[in-house]
Amino acid sequence: MRFLMISLSLLVLMGCAHNQAKAENFAIENLGDGIYVHHGVHLDIDEGYHGDICNASFVVGSKGVAVIDTGGSIKVGNQLREAIRKVTPLPVLYVINTHVHPDHIYGNAAFLPSNPKEAKPEFVGHEKLANTMELRKEQYAKLNARLLGDDAKGSELVKPTISVKINQVPSLNLDIGGRTLTLLAHPVAHTNTDVSVMDSKTSTLFTGDLLFIERTPVLEGDIKGFINMIEQLKTSHATQVVPGHGYVTKDWLTALNNEQRYFNTLLSDIRASIKKGESMESTMNTAAATEKDKWLLFEVANRRNVNTIYPALEWE
Ligand SMILES: [Zn+2]
Repeated sequence: MRFLMISLSLLVLMGCAHNQAKAENFAIENLGDGIYVHHGVHLDIDEGYHGDICNASFVVGSKGVAVIDTGGSIKVGNQLREAIRKVTPLPVLYVINTHVHPDHIYGNAAFLPSNPKEAKPEFVGHEKLANTMELRKEQYAKLNARLLGDDAKGSELVKPTISVKINQVPSLNLDIGGRTLTLLAHPVAHTNTDVSVMDSKTSTLFTGDLLFIERTPVLEGDIKGFINMIEQLKTSHATQVVPGHGYVTKDWLTALNNEQRYFNTLLSDIRASIKKGESMESTMNTAAATEKDKWLLFEVANRRNVNTIYPALEWE
């Protein structure tokens, strides 16, 4: 156990150093078969946030490219666009956002054509995405101005031009040539705007923040919905999974089980605290304590989760 903890913290240290080096030169991981992923660093959206903390991916077909999440600023979006240009001259046909969170969407602006005569990609997201973006526009603009400084300029909000409905039949298939991407819009889980993407050619599943690897899972949606969603994702026929944050894995079942274990623990600990009459403040210090050493950014993320979940469970 001791050994495990030491190696885990070593891994954490190495992981950080490694990721930071990668962020500076905007490294892209080539997964083969036309799939590429840029990994942001594991930082909270707070002091030190620079817009590059999530996975931003692209899939290359014979007709063009689909981008899945664009990072948190136009700077990150531009870096992603340049990385795509190094891989292929084909046009970007689709820009997909897996959900509304600012670290995933503010690079969208980089994919608007500089010349209005140029073809514009379709922006794709959950049926609730456009409205949720609008509701948060001011709040996110303030957040970006405070944390991103100059990079906030030009990082305008670009809303979806195509939306995916929950239980849409037939499902939305984006044809990029030689492969299609199937988009599913989900009920409230991580947020109210969660979309996952499956590539037909490789059976690669892009979960957005329905799956966190390494860093503590967070939610602002619904914990029971999230746990149900994980159960559903476990039935996937994916060969590999690109999470919203963390490394790409073929052993995604283990990753989903880890996430589910965290949320189940959190849920039962919060329920027990409420039953015992413990305040939310004290629950923040105790809930899911057994998970503490298993995740990065645990303190801040876990407290935030309690803050979201406790009031929602208080009257169940
Ligand atoms: Zn998120």
